[in-house]
Amino acid sequence: MSTPYRVTLIPGDGTGPELVSAARLVLEATGVPFEWEIQEAGLPVFEAEGTPLPERVLDSIRRNRVALKGPITTPVGTGFRSVNVSLRQALDLYANLRPAKSYAGVRSRYEGIDLVIVRENTEDLYAGIEHVVIPGEAAESIKIITRRASERIVRFAFEYARSHGRRSVTAVHKANIMKLSDGLFLDVARSVAAQYPDIEFNDRIVDNMCMQLVQRPDEYDVLVMPNLYGDILSDLASGLVGGLGVAPGANIGSEIAVFEPVHGSAPKYAGQDKVNPTATILSGTLLLRHLGETKAADAVERAVAAVIAAGEHVTYDLKPDRDDPTAVGTRRMAEAIAERVQQLMA
Ligand code: NAD
Repeated sequence: MSTPYRVTLIPGDGTGPELVSAARLVLEATGVPFEWEIQEAGLPVFEAEGTPLPERVLDSIRRNRVALKGPITTPVGTGFRSVNVSLRQALDLYANLRPAKSYAGVRSRYEGIDLVIVRENTEDLYAGIEHVVIPGEAAESIKIITRRASERIVRFAFEYARSHGRRSVTAVHKANIMKLSDGLFLDVARSVAAQYPDIEFNDRIVDNMCMQLVQRPDEYDVLVMPNLYGDILSDLASGLVGGLGVAPGANIGSEIAVFEPVHGSAPKYAGQDKVNPTATILSGTLLLRHLGETKAADAVERAVAAVIAAGEHVTYDLKPDRDDPTAVGTRRMAEAIAERVQQLMA
């Protein structure tokens, strides 16, 4: 047997642990050898250790260079800063890759969608620089856009397009209003685009982009944008393909990559063995591709597609009626996918 891949496994909180365990089952069914280094982070760790993201978690990821992560809850309005944002910034995971692809059997208003959102992951309004100007009356958040971060994210989008046989890249911005910050992003996008004459380039203002994606999603391919627009548009794109339960993601830096679903910790369903493991399992296929395990990644994707298309061993959100008593739990759906993976890899 070949040397196992050492991968940091962050179960997260809320529904995270059950989802990560489901994805692990499926990844192990491929026969690709893994050695998991389990690292807890999030709300319970904050209560026990005084920080939701201890240095040991970052050290483990730095050592292994690859991680699979469950979602982590962020307190709204007050409390600690988002672990997810801190982790991406601390490890300089500058590209957030969020494919949105239709699967037969997932209920959606659209068919045949195959979009890829490339979200800048380190700056913009997520730099976390905000302050109160007049208590209770006014506050300011600072939006940071740099040439360096814009250039590397747009280049990432074009390189991705080229290596994945994609036809076009669209830069999304609001440069008509934020002439300096988004204006810089757009200028940089145009100059990088000029170096990729084989890939079509367009730009769209973000509000128009939302409308276009709802009306004519098939006209778009790879979309690249600053952090906040990417956060919002990737949820919109998930909605086009049937919801957050099926939307995978990857945070990629120059040497380190952390794979996690687009969705959050869905805490109201925690511990109920209820939510859809597909997004976390498909994040696992992105991890397999990152490791160069293409055959295993293809098998997992085909197994997911087959189980969803059969419609039998699927969670409540993939049933025509959300109260359908024949819906299975997270674990059972993952087991059905894992059984299929084993057949495909045999
Ligand atoms: P959420 O994504 O957790 O849930 C929104 C709704 O989407 C849920 O109520 C559920 O109906 C549905 N949903 C989500 N995941 C699903 C799944 N796997 N299967 C079926 N349905 C699913 O969003 P939220 O409620 O806005 O956020 C909850 C917490 O997660 C917040 O604290 C937020 O900050 C955090 N969050 C974390 C991450 C991350 O870890 N990367 C990302 C987004 C949100």
